[in-house]
Amino acid sequence: MYQYKRSSELFDEAKKYIPGGVNSPVRAYKSVGGTPIFIEKAKGSILTDVDGNEYIDYISSWGPMILGHAYPKVIKAIKEKVEDSTSFGAPTELEVDIAKLIVNMVPNIDMVRMVNSGTEACMSAIRVARGYTGKNKFIKFEGCYHGHADSFLIKAGSGASTFGEPNSPGVTPGTANDTLTAKYNDIESVKEVVAENKGEIAAIIVEAIAGNMGCVLPKKGFLEDLRELCTKEGILLIFDEVMSGFRLAKGGAQEYFGIKADLVTFGKVIGGGMPVGAYAGSSEIMNIVSPVGPVYQAGTLSGNPIAMIAGYTLLKELNANPQLFTELADKTEYLHKGLDKVLQASGFDYRINRCGSMLSIFFTDTDVVDFDSAATANNAKFPKFFHEMLKRGIYLPPSSFESYFLSNSLTYEMLDKTIQAAKESLEAMK
Ligand code: PLP
Repeated sequence: MYQYKRSSELFDEAKKYIPGGVNSPVRAYKSVGGTPIFIEKAKGSILTDVDGNEYIDYISSWGPMILGHAYPKVIKAIKEKVEDSTSFGAPTELEVDIAKLIVNMVPNIDMVRMVNSGTEACMSAIRVARGYTGKNKFIKFEGCYHGHADSFLIKAGSGASTFGEPNSPGVTPGTANDTLTAKYNDIESVKEVVAENKGEIAAIIVEAIAGNMGCVLPKKGFLEDLRELCTKEGILLIFDEVMSGFRLAKGGAQEYFGIKADLVTFGKVIGGGMPVGAYAGSSEIMNIVSPVGPVYQAGTLSGNPIAMIAGYTLLKELNANPQLFTELADKTEYLHKGLDKVLQASGFDYRINRCGSMLSIFFTDTDVVDFDSAATANNAKFPKFFHEMLKRGIYLPPSSFESYFLSNSLTYEMLDKTIQAAKESLEAMK
């Protein structure tokens, strides 16, 4: 039986000094209840908490650990680099190396600017789009999450939906006015918003695969239609690839779906577990960024050598071994089939969405294609399933609005163990 004594003590202590005891809301387990688990260490796909319990990890630090925790080459590279100091605030050769590698791996980009988080990447991309087009408004989709910058906290997904605060206080009406929203997978809703704001829209930002209302796939033609509409209306199409970048494929969603975005944002995998984000595009667009162009964007720690070596080492590994993406997709498919079988046998209503190495189970009788349908699965079954799985050593995202992120360090034995745990958990839920 798992004990959470030390985690409980630490959570009580943490709440005195950190809002809600956590540095990012979803970690607080508010939507599933119970004590968040404090992690001590991790290796491959196994997490160890401060009470000595072990779990098979399906969060992968929300995406970055695509080859598993403490990946030996990444750890070695960090250890070597750290001896040369942890920050210079000046250019380094490594920044050139990683930029070249990213431009090589990702289609349709000539240049990339490194930042420190996915939030920074997305807010900078919007600023660039505004500077480039001379227009102020942009469209985002209900249930998509692009970080916690003011202008994105309108009908946002992820933790913002989990806690029922998709529109955050602190965002001024002026800012909110420039954020337009449409329904994911509903091109007519986008066309309507474009028509109502003719000539005023700088960008449409989209998670090509949505991962912040659970995993939701684009319907056939949706991304193509978005591309066509943007080209016709002089709107920049931004693919937020913070989750999908270097995960779906070497070249991310652009490669996977064969669709060209005008700007692309990255985070998670790109930093190998260190705080890194990036935005990228053609040199024509990117040359509007300071110091070449007038759109200002900067960062004291941007291009930090330790962060860069972690990202560079991981990306090199993915670039040299593209079969890793297939292996990972195969494992995810195996898990999907196994879960499907036990869920079907359980008699519960459910849907499973999967794309590449992202997957979500929804306890609902509705196909999940957008935020409204995803919300039907935000019900009492989810926390029960979560806790039953946790008791059996399976560490799932603690919200029905989040996706699983598989790592290639998962073995088929671990996947079998997970499927068996799901079978027992579903039995226990009856
Ligand atoms: N964009 C997407 C699609 C994300 O999933 C996230 C975070 O989960 C972000 C942007 C924000 O990234 P960060 O948390 O690194 O600021």
